[in-house]
Amino acid sequence: MQPDAQLRMQVYQEGQRAFNSGAACPYTDWRAGTWAKGRAVAEKHHADLTREPETVPCGVCDTPTRMVGTKRCARCWELEARIKADPDLARQILESL
Ligand SMILES: [Zn+2]
Repeated sequence: MQPDAQLRMQVYQEGQRAFNSGAACPYTDWRAGTWAKGRAVAEKHHADLTREPETVPCGVCDTPTRMVGTKRCARCWELEARIKADPDLARQILESL
């Protein structure tokens, strides 16, 4: 038998011995109750994925927004940031409209 084939056979036999030894898998053994913990984690993950996102009204235009920290919808946040970057130019532009 060639060395790599011998190694594969050895790994295979070790796997067979481990499988047939009756040793409990800590991740899936129902006797240890670990499946219940796994299910609880999966249920929480599913609930987090599927729940409605929290929204607040935009502080400027009252559009519901998920940005609960800034309380600005995307349009108002963008415009406000650009105005704040150069208020004098923004004022000139508004007066020229
Ligand atoms: Zn807004």
